[in-house]
Amino acid sequence: ARKFLVGGNWKMNGSSQLVSQLVKALNEGSWSSNVECVIAPPAPYLASVRSGVREAVGVAAQNVWVDPKGAFTGEISTEMLKDLNIGWVIIGHSERRSIYGESDELVGKKVAAAVKAGLKVIACCGESESERDADKTTEVVFRQIKAIADQLSPKDWANIVIAYEPVWAIGTGKVATPQQAQEVHKDIRNWLAKNVSSDVADATRILYGGSVSAKSSPDLQKEKDIDGFLVGGASLKDKEFLEILNSRQ
Ligand code: 13P
Repeated sequence: ARKFLVGGNWKMNGSSQLVSQLVKALNEGSWSSNVECVIAPPAPYLASVRSGVREAVGVAAQNVWVDPKGAFTGEISTEMLKDLNIGWVIIGHSERRSIYGESDELVGKKVAAAVKAGLKVIACCGESESERDADKTTEVVFRQIKAIADQLSPKDWANIVIAYEPVWAIGTGKVATPQQAQEVHKDIRNWLAKNVSSDVADATRILYGGSVSAKSSPDLQKEKDIDGFLVGGASLKDKEFLEILNSRQ
C-alpha cells in the first residue's frame, strides 16, 4: 500500500519566527500514523528545522544542483543536504521551470543525481492553463515524466514521489476538482506501468498540488490515485496544515 504523504512547500516564505512557530505546531500536533509528513523550508532554515522538528517529520530542500561541489555560486549540493541529514528534495517545481528556465532534461539530471546520492525526491510535473485548454495535458506531463524516467533505473523509483501540480492551480485558489486530478493521476500511473513497470506504477506515490486547503483536501484524498498532497500557501498556516494532515486517517 502507498503511504499517504502530505508535503509542505514553504517556497521563499518565512522568518526565524515563523519557522519556530511551524516547527512547534508540528512537534505538538498529531495525525494518523498512516500519513507521512515532509516539510520544505527555504535553504537558510534547513539545518535548524531538521534539528528542531521531530524525527518522524521529513525535511526537504526545494532545489539541488547536479555536481557534488565546486565553483557553482549560489547552489546547494546533494552532499551538503546529506551532511545536514536532510532526507528529501523537491525537484522540477513549475516555479523552477518557468522562472529559472529549468528544462525537462536538467530536471531529469537533478532527479537522477539526487536519488543516486541517496536522497528521496519529490519530482514535479504539470501543465499550464493554455496547455490544458489545448488538450495537451497528458502530452506535457508524459514528456516531463519521460525526461525523468530516462535518467533512472527501475530500482531508483523506490525513492521517487511524483507531484502533479497543474500550473493553473498553483497559488490561484483554483484547485483542480477531485475528478480532474484523479484523471491525470491515473494517466500518470498507466504511463509508469507501460514505460517503467507495473510494480513501480503500483508503488509510486503521486501527490496532487495546487491550492490545496483544509476545505479541498477531504474530497481530494478520497480519489484512488491521489496518494497525498504538496501544499504551498496553506502549509504556512500551522492550524490549516495540521487539518490537511488530518484529512486522511
Ligand atoms: P499552493 O498550494 O500555494 O497553490 O502551491 C502549490 C505548490 O506549488 C506546492 O508546491
